[in-house]
Amino acid sequence: MSAQIISGKDISAEIRSELAERVAALARDHGVVPGLATVLVGEDPASEMYVGMKNRAAGALGIHSRQITLPAGTPEEELLGLVVGLNADPDIHGILVQLPLPDRIDEAKVIESIHPSKDVDGFHPISVGRLATDSGAFFAPCTPAGVIEMLLRSGHDPAGKHVVVAGRSNIVGRPLASLLLRKSRGGNATVTVCHSRTPDLGAVTRTAEILVVAIGRPEMVTADMVAPGAVVIDVGTHRVDDPSSERGYRVCGDVLFDEVKEVASALSPSPGGVGPMTITMLLSNTVESASRSVVGR
Ligand code: NAP
Repeated sequence: MSAQIISGKDISAEIRSELAERVAALARDHGVVPGLATVLVGEDPASEMYVGMKNRAAGALGIHSRQITLPAGTPEEELLGLVVGLNADPDIHGILVQLPLPDRIDEAKVIESIHPSKDVDGFHPISVGRLATDSGAFFAPCTPAGVIEMLLRSGHDPAGKHVVVAGRSNIVGRPLASLLLRKSRGGNATVTVCHSRTPDLGAVTRTAEILVVAIGRPEMVTADMVAPGAVVIDVGTHRVDDPSSERGYRVCGDVLFDEVKEVASALSPSPGGVGPMTITMLLSNTVESASRSVVGR
């Protein structure tokens, strides 16, 4: 058996074209252009690359993106003041402060300074609490929200299924478990969460009808850890040394793709899986925030 490939790249393109239509409708019907502010502190090359990708993707959809780059030595108070200004700016519907921040700055304080209605990253404690209690308006963190869209749009609705989530981080595993437990679209699953203290990971992952792996361990999930016919989403992304490649490295996930594709009924690759979905869900949250601002007028 060779698995159906769940392409985050294709699903992403589909969602982005729907978002472009929503952006055009917001401008036509309400004169509103969704606005995303990205704040970068310091010169971390990976962060610069991510922020650049987010801004280019926003621009391609007609979302107004404002990139604010501050020197590494920026005082915490100045950053907090900037966020307060963005909270009050009617042209900005989403605020993203790129993490990690320099050590001197209290990340939690900065995240808490973002107004929850503009918290398109979904990391504010109010957003986290609303997701956990399945109540009120909030934005879901982008990576787990992307996983849910991949499942739904590839025909694997998690409702009524046993979903095993491997990993319990605050940005992936934990919010994903909460999304899967919601009593709404993409939810209603029976959820088991595993982590590094789970004594026999394979014994649990083999019980999954849908397995989502976010453990940050290159190619650790092998075919014997997957039930025949299971659906597998690989969140992991790693650069591993590969002297046979021209670049000297290759990119892989947490799942041993070539093996698991022979056992699973459907599988997302890495690269080309969850990665493209994360930025797409950020754009989606920004467009949704702009739509909510129109309703709220
Ligand atoms: P993380 O913060 O390092 O968390 C990893 C989780 O996996 C932890 O809960 C840890 O357990 C658990 N774990 C580690 N080793 C394990 C093992 N041997 N058996 C069972 N559980 C184990 O990682 P993360 O931020 O969630 O990211 C996970 C992966 O997804 C990484 O490869 C990351 O690069 C990737 N990622 C991709 C995207 C994207 O957009 N594509 C976005 C975010 C993350 P403990 O809690 O007990 O330590």
